[in-house]
Amino acid sequence: MVRFILFVALAAVLVSVAYVFSQNPDWTASFEILGYRLSVHLGFLFFGLLIAFWLFGWLYFALRRTMAMPAEMAKNARISRQNRGYKALTHGLVALAAGDPDEADKQARRANELLDTTPATMLLTAQAAQLNGDEEAAARYFDDMTRNDDTAFLGLRGLIMQALARGDRKEVQHLLERARKIQPNAPWILETDYELSLQTGQLEGAQQAVKRLASRRLLSSSDARNRLALTETDLAFQAAEKGAWRQAADHARRAVNDEPSLIPARSLAARAHLELGNLRKAKAQAVEAWRLRPTAGAATSFLRASKPQDIAGKRTAIAELVQANPNALFSQFLRAEAAIESGDLAIARDAVADLPETSASVGVNALKLRLEALEAGGEDRSPTPLDGHSLPLEPQVCANCGTEHTRWRAVCTECGSSGTIGLPTRGA
Ligand SMILES: [Zn+2]
Repeated sequence: MVRFILFVALAAVLVSVAYVFSQNPDWTASFEILGYRLSVHLGFLFFGLLIAFWLFGWLYFALRRTMAMPAEMAKNARISRQNRGYKALTHGLVALAAGDPDEADKQARRANELLDTTPATMLLTAQAAQLNGDEEAAARYFDDMTRNDDTAFLGLRGLIMQALARGDRKEVQHLLERARKIQPNAPWILETDYELSLQTGQLEGAQQAVKRLASRRLLSSSDARNRLALTETDLAFQAAEKGAWRQAADHARRAVNDEPSLIPARSLAARAHLELGNLRKAKAQAVEAWRLRPTAGAATSFLRASKPQDIAGKRTAIAELVQANPNALFSQFLRAEAAIESGDLAIARDAVADLPETSASVGVNALKLRLEALEAGGEDRSPTPLDGHSLPLEPQVCANCGTEHTRWRAVCTECGSSGTIGLPTRGA
């Protein structure tokens, strides 16, 4: 529209100029060229010059286009090369994700040929080497990357992951130090900090890493609480091993606050309160532990905190404890044992008959022998102490590698995985 208006305006101007010229036929210009005298009407001169300018403009435009052609072609070639390079890069990354080592390698080579060295091509090359099982070549590429400011962080990360896989904690620590200088709060650095601190037993360091992860919303609050509870419980066990029961109780309390269903924290809290003489608290924690999962340790803490004076007192205490988890095998076992020990033959028979046949692991056969002796001789031959029982002490087993541990730990000393140690799963 604007163009049209401009065209109309220009045409109007030209027509009026032509009209003015036509009304004045005497407007002429005279020249003398090479001895000839020329006389031209000014209108011709004006329009002639206009056409000459127009032609010159076109000529100039065409000339410039022709001269710019080679540069243009080179630019197009460069863009096409770059596009093919990015395509190879993309295909390479897809091959990496799909775990196709040959394709990843091929595309990495192509990307390197087509593109200038970029962080992405370097990373692709290193990871393609890794996928091909060539850790040495990958390490070389990662090392090259650490020399360039743009790629140093990525290179360090690659080297750290390699060192972690080798289990070379010293090297990990050294490389982490360098990576921290570049980006102290990168999620994977905090995560590696956490794992490494756990494995080297620096639990306070692990807790700091968890708090930093959580404060940056890199960890859900429930995961953060769970991890803090693991470290607190481990600290509680360490304190308990040294006989520092006050500290053990404090750590266990914090662990239970963070993760109320952590069985070892509950059991240890009961034990620590018992040792400190807080009998009421000891019993309360033992009941909570029993509710989660009955264990020999919780039963011991509860009975010792109850201080029964006679067998009737012991039966009352046991009734109170097993109420928290009445149908559990350990509850049934304790009830049967207490009945045998108090010589209550009818109830003892019922209770023993209720015990599943298949639970040899809890010593049902031994209990049956004691019942037979009671029926034959009128007394229990092997009673337990008033504050004791004959429940078996279960091992703490790593769900990852199957190693049995003498006490609960946050990290398996055998395979290094965290949060995998617990009581064995029970059938009945
Ligand atoms: Zn393990």
